[in-house]
Amino acid sequence: MRLNNFWTYRRILLTRGFLRSLRRSRQNLEASRQGAPPAYGPFMAELDVTYRCNCRCRMCQRWQDTRSDGLDLADYERLAGEFSALGVYQVSIAGGEPLLRGDIFEIIGHFAARGMSVNLCTNGMLLEKYRREIAASGATCVTVSLDAATAQCHDAIRGLAGSFRGIARGIAAYLSRRNGATAPLLRVRMTVSAANTPEIREFCQSWSGVADDVLLQPVHRCEPSYYTGLDEGGLRLDPAAISDQLQGTAMENDPYLRRLIESLSATGRFPYYPCYAGLLMVRIDPWGGVYPCLEQHVSVGSIRKGGFAAVWNSAVFDRERKRLGSHRPCRCWYNNTAMIGHFGRRLEKTLFSAAAAGRLPAARSGGRSETACCARPADPGPVTGDGLRLTAQMSVRRRGRK
Ligand code: SF4
Ligand code: SF4
Repeated sequence: MRLNNFWTYRRILLTRGFLRSLRRSRQNLEASRQGAPPAYGPFMAELDVTYRCNCRCRMCQRWQDTRSDGLDLADYERLAGEFSALGVYQVSIAGGEPLLRGDIFEIIGHFAARGMSVNLCTNGMLLEKYRREIAASGATCVTVSLDAATAQCHDAIRGLAGSFRGIARGIAAYLSRRNGATAPLLRVRMTVSAANTPEIREFCQSWSGVADDVLLQPVHRCEPSYYTGLDEGGLRLDPAAISDQLQGTAMENDPYLRRLIESLSATGRFPYYPCYAGLLMVRIDPWGGVYPCLEQHVSVGSIRKGGFAAVWNSAVFDRERKRLGSHRPCRCWYNNTAMIGHFGRRLEKTLFSAAAAGRLPAARSGGRSETACCARPADPGPVTGDGLRLTAQMSVRRRGRK
């Protein structure tokens, strides 16, 4: 979500719950500046409810994880209660393909019933089948990933012939079925790689005015990461080609994409943004493993051992959030586009202004400043110490590389 699409998202942004959660996020940032643990839970949580998937995308390894789902409906009901008590505002239900779970609408219902904004992330293959249930689910958004503008390019990336047409049919069926002010918004998102860059313009033009929002997410690799299935050529983004494709589209002057293009052109790297992993966001895998970041595979505990709050408030989590806040080795796209990065930066700016004006005490070590993070050299290796665990996903990736 980006503020330049305020009108699209007004029914999410103009709520008391949202404003309250911004105040809580600000208190978390303030605590971080003081080197203290967060005062509240994260602003947003991604729940990967399964890694089973009916697609075989080239850049993804989740579908290769053959373990069955570890958390049941009662676990998610308990989690919804804990999130509510901790002041979590947004929940992204992701996977794998979440619609493969038979209890997915009950899971969504537990979080929505407690006032959380729920975003269902789907590959769209089951959209047509479940269009009525999604419309009535209580979710605020459904985000459909599509990997190109044409069936030929899309199906090659997704590893499934006929998938483009099936998803497009599902979107049309959902949009024609949807009515009423409370049905979830529908967004389409393309993961941009070298393989589909030539189709960016057509993608934007064909979905603008059809979907409620169009998102472009450049493929990136943060070690360790899920998105390492592409070869080096597929991961390399051509900033000039992206810039050319954006011309004449509604995304032409998107500030994040402009900054991405500038940074890739100048340094070959993603732009630097402060990261709020473990402070404003968290991820939970299908077996209850808790991670500070949506991308990196360093687990700081499990909700199956004493619940989420125990992990969120643990010393292990606190060490990891401080490490990521002060000298993380990675840069990723999530901070750039996600609402969390957007508001986190604005909230930090208000904090820094208040500190400069003498209304706040000076920060102790552990705060997240851009200067401090940029000043440190990259640390290339995965983190394994201090009670942190590398997950099975990493093993999958390593096995794949042998
Ligand atoms: S990227 Fe998403 S849709 Fe594709 S295989 Fe992975 S989980 Fe499935
Ligand atoms: S920059 Fe932050 S959110 Fe992105 S991969 Fe690194 S720790 Fe995760």
